[in-house]
Amino acid sequence: MAERMLKFVTVGQSMPEKRAAGERRGDFGEIYRGFAAEKAAEQASRCSQCGVPFCQVHCPLSNNIPDWLKLTAEGRLEEAYEVSQATNTFPEVCGRICPQDRLCEGNCVIEKGFESVTIGSIEKYITETAFAQGWVLPPKPRHERPESVGIVGAGPAGLAAADQLRRLGYQVTVYDRYDRVGGLMIYGIPNFKLEKDVVLRRSELLAAGGISFVLNCEVGRDVTLDALRARHDAVLLATGVYAARDMPADGRSLANIVPAMTYLTASNRKGLGDSVPDYDDGTLNAEGKRVVVIGGGDTAMDCVRTAVRQGAKSVQCLYRRDRANMPGSLREVQHAEEEGVEFLWLTQPVGFGGKAGRLTRVKAQRMKLGLADTSGRAVPKPIDGSEFDLKADIAILALGFDPEDLPALLRAPDLQTSPAGTVRIDFRRFETSLPGVFAAGDIVRGASLVVWAIRDGRDAAAAIHDHLNARARAQAIAAE
Ligand code: FAD
Ligand code: SF4
Ligand code: SF4
Repeated sequence: MAERMLKFVTVGQSMPEKRAAGERRGDFGEIYRGFAAEKAAEQASRCSQCGVPFCQVHCPLSNNIPDWLKLTAEGRLEEAYEVSQATNTFPEVCGRICPQDRLCEGNCVIEKGFESVTIGSIEKYITETAFAQGWVLPPKPRHERPESVGIVGAGPAGLAAADQLRRLGYQVTVYDRYDRVGGLMIYGIPNFKLEKDVVLRRSELLAAGGISFVLNCEVGRDVTLDALRARHDAVLLATGVYAARDMPADGRSLANIVPAMTYLTASNRKGLGDSVPDYDDGTLNAEGKRVVVIGGGDTAMDCVRTAVRQGAKSVQCLYRRDRANMPGSLREVQHAEEEGVEFLWLTQPVGFGGKAGRLTRVKAQRMKLGLADTSGRAVPKPIDGSEFDLKADIAILALGFDPEDLPALLRAPDLQTSPAGTVRIDFRRFETSLPGVFAAGDIVRGASLVVWAIRDGRDAAAAIHDHLNARARAQAIAAE
C-alpha cells in the first residue's frame, strides 16, 4: 500500500482547475472543471489510510472514504464507485456542494501541516466516470412488494428515501408542489454550484426505476394527507423549510426588497428556460443594479454570486459578525471575493430608504463583537453614532428559513411539531405523531444540508421498511 498511498509528503494538494473569475462572472456554469484521470489518482494517493479515519467520522453518511480513495489511486474506478454509492444516494451532488471544509476535508488528519485530501472532487470524479461508463443504473428491486409508500417532497430527503424503498421492492409515488423534481437542488442552489443537468439526470434514473412522480401537486391543497394515508401503506413527509425570516424595519415595505428564495428561484427558472415575468420586467434581475445582500450564510453567498453573473453594477454583502464568525463556507466567500463581491463585515442593516415607493438606500450601522453567547459565537453589538447609508437598487434578504405551519398546511392538526415548527418524530422509528406517517430532512432537522437530508431519507426508508415488515408479520400471524 505504501507505494501507492501516503503520498501527501511528496505530492501537494491540487484541486481541479478553477475557471478564472473573469470567465466565471460571464456565465452560470460550474466553476471547477473535472479532474483528469491521472490527477484524480494522484490526489487520491495522498491519503494516509488512517486507522481511525476522521474524514469518515465527520461525513454525515459515514462514507468509506479511505477505501474509495485507495481504489481510485489504483485505477479501480468501478469498485471505487460501488463503495462510494453504497452509502450515498447522490455522490455526484455531495462531491460538488457539501461544505467539505467543514465536514470530511476539514477533518482530514493530514490537514495539519499538509493540506487535506481533496475528497469532494474525487467523489465527483468517481461518480462522473461511473455515469460516463454506464455503471449508474436505475434502482431495480430483486422482488416486487405489494405495499406502496407515498412521499411528500421531491428534495434530496424524499428522493433518497424513494430510491432506497424502490430498491427494496416497494411501489413508490413522490408528490411535489413544484413542477420539477429536486427540491432546493433544482430551485434554490444555483447552477454555478450544481448544474441542473446533474439533478435532472438523477431524477430520470429514479423514474426509469419505476418511481412515480406526481408534480404540481400540493399536499394539503390538491390532495389531503388523509387521502394519501388511505392510498398508501406508509407516508413520508419530506417537505423542507420554506418560511423566509424577515427583517421588520423602517422602509421594509418599499419595492425591490426581495426574499432570497424568490430571487434565486427566478434565476434558476430562467436558466432552465422558463418564462419568468418578474425577471423579464427587471424586478428580480440584478443587471445594471446596485445590489445589497443581507446575511452571512450559504444562501447569501448564492445571492451575491448570482447577482454578479446577472451583470450587477455593484454587489455588497452585509453581515453583522466578522469573517471568522460567519455561518457560511469560507470557500464560498473566497469565490465571491474573487468574483468582485464586496463584504461589509460587522455591519448591520437598520432600515431602508427610498423614493416614490422604491428602494434607493439601505441604512446600516457598524457593529463590534462582544462575549460569546451559549452557542459559542461572539454577540455583535451596535457602535453608537456609526450609522451610514449604502446606495441600493435592490436589497435581498438572506436571513435563513423556518418551517411553514405544516399541521395547518396539511390540514393535519394532530401532527405534532416542536416549538420551532419542525415535525416531531421518534428518532429511532422516524415516525411522527400520526401512525404510519414518517418524516425526514429539513422539516425535522431545520434548515441544514443536502448530505444530511440524504442521510435522513435513507434512515427513514429503513425505518419504513421495518414498520411494513412488522405489519406484514402481524397480519400473517392474525391470518393463521
Ligand atoms: P427540500 O430540498 O426543500 O425539498 C422539499 C420539497 O418538498 C420541495 O420540492 C417542495 O416543493 C416540496 N413540498 C413542500 N411542501 C409540499 C407540499 N405540501 N406538497 C407537496 N410538496 C411539497 N446544502 C448543501 O449541502 N450545500 C449547499 O451548497 C447548499 N446550498 C443551499 C443554497 C440555498 C439557496 C438553500 C436555500 C439551501 C442550500 N442548501 C445547501 C441546503 C439544502 O438545499 C437543504 O438542506 C436540502 O435541500 C433539504 O432537503 P429536503 O429534502 O429536506 O427539502
Ligand atoms: Fe465529504 Fe460530503 Fe462526500 Fe461525505 S458526502 S465524503 S462530507 S463530500
Ligand atoms: Fe485519508 Fe485524510 Fe481520511 Fe486519513 S483523514 S483516511 S488521510 S482522507
